[in-house]
Amino acid sequence: QPHGDGVRTNELPRPCRMMLLVNPQSGKGQALSLYNRHIQQMLNEAGVQHTLIITEHQNHARELVREADLSQWDAMVIMSGDGLLYEVINGLLTRPDWEEAVRIPVGILPGGSGNALAASIHHYSGGSPVFGEDLLISCGFLLCKGLVSPMDLVSIHVSSTPRMFSFLSLAWGFVADVDIESEKYRHAGAARFTMGTLVRLASLRIYKGKLAYLPCTKDCNSERKVKNDPTLHCNNQTSSTTPPPALNQVTDTPSKNSFHNSCHSNNSHQVHRTENPPHANATTAAPGPPDSLLLPLDQPLPSDWEVVQEEQFVLVLAMYQSHLGEDMVTAPDATVDEGVIHLYYVRAGISRSALLRLFLAMEKGALLSTNCQHLVYTKVRALRLEPHSPKGIITVDGEVVEYGPVQAEVHRGLARLITG
Ligand code: ADP
Ligand code: MG
Repeated sequence: QPHGDGVRTNELPRPCRMMLLVNPQSGKGQALSLYNRHIQQMLNEAGVQHTLIITEHQNHARELVREADLSQWDAMVIMSGDGLLYEVINGLLTRPDWEEAVRIPVGILPGGSGNALAASIHHYSGGSPVFGEDLLISCGFLLCKGLVSPMDLVSIHVSSTPRMFSFLSLAWGFVADVDIESEKYRHAGAARFTMGTLVRLASLRIYKGKLAYLPCTKDCNSERKVKNDPTLHCNNQTSSTTPPPALNQVTDTPSKNSFHNSCHSNNSHQVHRTENPPHANATTAAPGPPDSLLLPLDQPLPSDWEVVQEEQFVLVLAMYQSHLGEDMVTAPDATVDEGVIHLYYVRAGISRSALLRLFLAMEKGALLSTNCQHLVYTKVRALRLEPHSPKGIITVDGEVVEYGPVQAEVHRGLARLITG
């Protein structure tokens, strides 16, 4: 029976040839012994042939995936925290054959301290909350079942490093600081985030910057043909190639402020519809799909974006899975391939006790029922964040990325995830 011939169904083939990448350093450093104790026999009994690869250093998984002969594999699974899957996804999407490569089913077994995607997969399967080794066993069974779903990926642009792809989160402020500062409590496993949260609460900070986003419309969940869907676009300079707009072409969604204040809803100004200019796909030379909703970071926003009036935050968090950690249910209604970024931000001025209540509510998936006046939640398809302070931390899937202006666009169902 030929495998890896480009035909990939929504179920893993049997027998299945799985690359299983285990990070011996993740979490409490127990991934390998957890594999021996729980996973090896489970996979063998389910007829899942797997090749165990122990990662030796950071970016080892990324390099292996970039070079792999994908016709030899039916799935790529990691046993670690979310960080190792981040390497695999980005390894796949920097291959010249990325379009085929990103179709290979990827999977995750929780072996780290940040196991958000594993907890999300368990949640999507309808299971009641479990933690630690129970979560691992659940994910092991789901992996053996071998059902595959499309998974959204979000492309992330920063100023000077290449575009990245993210499956989980983009964070700035409180959440990003806790994630990185708590790495020193890694030996505590998932409890590291609780410890980090308490420490950060004691020295609560305000983060200044500008946030803007492209809201989801009613048809957010249906694929938008961007090429044939001219969006309102504003520009300070009259373009000789763009015909002057007829007044009735002015959108009924008047622009909010753009970052550069170049766009007004007043008809006497240059507010007009235009095709997204070709340079919108600033990264077409690199592998991966074009970002049709984004303009380059140094240009004003497209004018159908909303600009958040507040410029002082305690946190900004974009999520595209249900969980941010094993016991952090940030977006309980999120699904794996809805083409939506769940954007949360907390405005400055929130009290420590109210913020603590938010984090406690998150454990129960009840963030929005707190009715916190400082918490804002909205569904978006793309966003841009421009921090004002010269130093800080931005994380993507829990990994530190270049600090500075950042923007993101969701690509619905771009990857494939083993969800069971
Ligand atoms: P955790 O949830 O514990 O943070 P991750 O999967 O996020 O686990 O892994 C943390 C980091 O460890 C990743 O950035 C990964 O590149 C790196 N890594 C992978 N293998 C090794 C290794 N053998 N030694 C040290 N670091 C490694
Ligand atoms: Mg990590």
